[in-house]
Amino acid sequence: MNALLQVEGLRLGYGRADVVHGIDLTVPRGRIVSLIGSNGAGKTTILRGLSGLMKPRGGHIRWGQDGADLAGEAAHRIARRGIVQVPEGRQVFANMTVAENLRLGAYHAPGAEAARRQEAVVARFPRLGERLSQQAGYLSGGEQQMLAMGRALMAEPVLLLLDEPSMGLAPLIVEEIFAIIAALRTEGRTILLVEQNASAALAIADDAYVLETGRIRLKGPAAEVARNPEVTAAYLGL
Ligand code: ATP
Repeated sequence: MNALLQVEGLRLGYGRADVVHGIDLTVPRGRIVSLIGSNGAGKTTILRGLSGLMKPRGGHIRWGQDGADLAGEAAHRIARRGIVQVPEGRQVFANMTVAENLRLGAYHAPGAEAARRQEAVVARFPRLGERLSQQAGYLSGGEQQMLAMGRALMAEPVLLLLDEPSMGLAPLIVEEIFAIIAALRTEGRTILLVEQNASAALAIADDAYVLETGRIRLKGPAAEVARNPEVTAAYLGL
């Protein structure tokens, strides 16, 4: 297996409390790995640790061919290496246009290169193309999610960290977003997907991890995790 990201013993917390208690996680290149778990299990915290927004209290985040340890590296350097997070709640800039939001994702790229990337993003999200000069605050929730993903893609990420892309969206829009996530994998991107919508997250993933109060409770091929009786009872409502 060609691991792109290998997390070992990652510990994270706020103030005096640890909320992630030494987890191991492997993300193979070109795959979708889903991390599911209930509210407050620590999923967002893990993504923050991986993208450098929070400093790990312990453990290793090994990246790429040479296994460079990213634990403790600054967020902008981690982004430069190709790990880009799409935050929970989209966090698009409401008063800026769609095009301006996209440009932020490639702020370090020269104009011509940013324009080329924007064309690729618009090909992937035609609805954004129709709204380039609109203020992002006027987009629907689904369109804002597309914009948040498009902004991340402007950085040409190797690994995309998606935090609850389905949050607050109608089922048809969720389907559309998940179809796009699957298409990104086909293009060769690697995705770590955090979701409360366990059935959608397990259906799309290659591998899955179940997080409970900061510990990995279960892991395996997503199809196997989806059949696990504890998972069907607790997360799939079956
Ligand atoms: P959710 O889906 O609700 O975001 P989650 O699995 O992503 O859940 P986290 O947001 O990572 O969970 O939160 C894990 C734990 O850390 C929770 O107990 C939460 O209350 C706590 N926590 C999160 N953010 C902070 C913070 N900024 N300061 C203190 N505690 C925090």
